[in-house]
Amino acid sequence: MNVKKEPGSVLPHAVSAEDLALINRLSRAELAAEQVYTFALRLCDNEVDRDWERFDESGLEALRHLFVGKSGIFDHNWSAGGQTARLYKTEICQEEGATAAGDPCRFLKGYAYMLRSEKNAALIEEIEGGIKKEVSVGCSVSGRRCSICGQESCSHQGGQVYDGRLCYFTLLDPVDAYEWSFVAVPAQRRAGVMKSYVQSRDSGLRRMLSAHPACLRQLDALEKEAKLGRAYLDGLRRELVRLAGMSDEELDLQVFSKTAGKMDEDELLELAKVYRRRMEEKYPPSPQLRPLAALQQQDEDRAFLV
Ligand SMILES: [Zn+2]
Repeated sequence: MNVKKEPGSVLPHAVSAEDLALINRLSRAELAAEQVYTFALRLCDNEVDRDWERFDESGLEALRHLFVGKSGIFDHNWSAGGQTARLYKTEICQEEGATAAGDPCRFLKGYAYMLRSEKNAALIEEIEGGIKKEVSVGCSVSGRRCSICGQESCSHQGGQVYDGRLCYFTLLDPVDAYEWSFVAVPAQRRAGVMKSYVQSRDSGLRRMLSAHPACLRQLDALEKEAKLGRAYLDGLRRELVRLAGMSDEELDLQVFSKTAGKMDEDELLELAKVYRRRMEEKYPPSPQLRPLAALQQQDEDRAFLV
């Protein structure tokens, strides 16, 4: 079971000697402090999220180990250039307050480094400049447990209250942390709040796919096809409204076109057939045959075509 959480944001962090030692454990070449840029980020927390799921303490602890050494990618503007950062240290931090599950609030903080290379300069500037980045993490868990009955599979609904108890699901035994990524968001949005919510299905999908250029291309292609499909349906609707208007003068076209807007392809085609038949009854098609002489003339003309 793969889960994807978007709780984080970037926190400033300066490189220390201890950081450098940890970084050099991961990097191929020995790096000096001035060669690396480091920053901290909030990877995920133990709050019950919008899917009514949460990590418990042991889940966060497992993730703490799984994330070390993992590379993160930036939204596709950046990842196209291959910019990555790597987590060299993680820790669990406690904050004030309690979660919806009644636990003290905790979050997993990650420390990442990237090279201060020419290629990364603009990106570092962007991070430093406070263009807020949301962090999303993807990890794989073995299952989830219901807060009401303790079962992994049941019919309780997350978010519902049963006998005064909130139903949520605890994500069990993270087995892999496979990615974390950054997506730029407008600075004013959700200022001070670190957990992010997907505003629309589409942007959420794009964000989830931001690490996978091939999937994004596929999404682009699908969107193009969907657009063609919508244009086709719009055409059918317009044609139906036109036919209906011509064959039934009493019809309130405004109301009718609203109704047509809710019809699917089959309904549109079927109803158009009905109105077309009615039209033909009302205005029988006049014969559109050309005089025979003209046709013969045309045939004779064709004889000279090479
Ligand atoms: Zn249950």
